[in-house]
Amino acid sequence: MALSQNDILRALELVKLPASGQSLAASGRIGDILINDGKVIFAIGIDATEASAMEPVRKAAESAVGGIPGVTQVLVGLTADKAPGRPAPSQAAEARRQAHGQPGPGGPVPKAAGIPGVKQIIAVASGKGGVGKSTTTANLAVALATLGLKVGVLDADIYGPSVPKIFGITGKPRLVSGRTLAPMEAYGLKIMSIGFLIDEETPMIWRGPMVISAITQMLREVAWGELDVLVVDMPPGTGDAQLTMAQQTPLAGAVIVSTPQDLALLDARRGVAMFRKVEVPILGIVENMSYFICPECGHRSDIFAHGGARHEAERQGVPFLGEIPLAMTIRETSDGGRPIVASDPDSPHAKAYVALARQVKAGLAGPARAAPRIVIE
Ligand code: ADP
Repeated sequence: MALSQNDILRALELVKLPASGQSLAASGRIGDILINDGKVIFAIGIDATEASAMEPVRKAAESAVGGIPGVTQVLVGLTADKAPGRPAPSQAAEARRQAHGQPGPGGPVPKAAGIPGVKQIIAVASGKGGVGKSTTTANLAVALATLGLKVGVLDADIYGPSVPKIFGITGKPRLVSGRTLAPMEAYGLKIMSIGFLIDEETPMIWRGPMVISAITQMLREVAWGELDVLVVDMPPGTGDAQLTMAQQTPLAGAVIVSTPQDLALLDARRGVAMFRKVEVPILGIVENMSYFICPECGHRSDIFAHGGARHEAERQGVPFLGEIPLAMTIRETSDGGRPIVASDPDSPHAKAYVALARQVKAGLAGPARAAPRIVIE
């Protein structure tokens, strides 16, 4: 018999909230429940300060629902849609604060717990879709691996998971223990994508809290092993779902991908503001599809008046990470499952990604700030 919302809520009646002893089902904290064959996805609404207190409740909810006959997989996340009462600082004040390494107004934003074995997590984000975020993620990840790092990729672009295609991966991840999945592997990288778990034929409507639950679970219930860096391909945009995700993922930094057009740059600016709001350091802005080199004659054309992202980065006081050309070979290799850094490492395009990776690696190692000079008069 098909599972219903009531089946799920009945199981959640047995899960109690620690403070009040109230049942989770009656607490009004359960968001939309998505049921897709035997897969059940939902989120528990929390205040950002309750995250660690509510983690056992999340686990209890998962096992309660996991015990319902017919349930094959459960994704439950905690979601704090908005951090309570934190006004966004002005950009200038925020830039000053970041430059001096001071905590934000109202104290530090509560940080999500790290992932054992994973040293650093970075987000690759864009203000809107279609700017080449996933292509950049994939090539940046391969390039970081060529620099000697152990690298994983988490495709959190739930609206259009393209990482499986870019790496040419088919098949499903294996369960290793309990509900922990083994990541897929390609080009020496560990890779996980929601695309491996959902049926391409079944359209899914994702609402904010479900996005968070699915991503949190992919982050934490995958046997990543030892990684120097996990590169997260974020869902495009700067809405509540992205903001919460940026807050709930223990991010060491964010790379913003933009194209040079004014509108994309406006979106990139929103991306910078979003990460600043949740105190994630901006590693920098990269300009994708920056200029075109004719494959026939080698002539370079600045189709979109390139350089916009560099100016935007300067204006925002964040590093500019470089320019990636608009190139047929980048598109063909990306769409064909062979990222250019792996399939044609000596090409100038691959070198552009390696240069980007070097900057990201240096940014992660910490800004090379000179020690303050103390002058005693
Ligand atoms: P997003 O993740 O931002 O939606 P994708 O990485 O999926 O964007 O890229 C969108 C399309 O643009 C894909 O077909 C991809 O191959 C192509 N593309 C991305 N970057 C480049 C580039 N530098 N040159 C040529 N095509 C590119």
